[in-house]
Amino acid sequence: MEGEAVTDRRSDCLFCKIVAGEVPADIVREGERTIAFRDINPQAPTHVLIIPRDHYPDMASAGAAGIGLLDEIAREAGEIARAEGIADSGYRMVFNTGPGAGQTIFHVHGHLLGGRGLEWPPG
Ligand code: AMP
Ligand code: ZN
Repeated sequence: MEGEAVTDRRSDCLFCKIVAGEVPADIVREGERTIAFRDINPQAPTHVLIIPRDHYPDMASAGAAGIGLLDEIAREAGEIARAEGIADSGYRMVFNTGPGAGQTIFHVHGHLLGGRGLEWPPG
């Protein structure tokens, strides 16, 4: 059902496979409910994807679940930014939501980007 929070793994979802260890990834941090790994096609010196272990198709469905997952992703982003040395220079979190915004993988992921100047508005 559209908009429904789906809290299991999906056999056809690449990021669920990364969570399950079935597809390798360069993991930078693991939380109880989240994992973070480097983007395979980095757009900045630091480009890390932060995802919940459970499958939610996008940011809105993860937020609608009302269980603090997006809070946790934000907290993880802060810790990773500190570890990557970009907390002071600044960084950006992006949740592409929907195909028109460039979402290609429908397992919610926050892009943590930093380590270079970031223009505004984004393209
Ligand atoms: P989006 O376009 O917002 O859905 O972001 C999907 C991101 O996943 C892109 O930046 C891809 O480069 C990245 N990506 C795709 N496959 C992998 C993979 N196997 N490991 C790490 N990142 C990936
Ligand atoms: Zn998934």
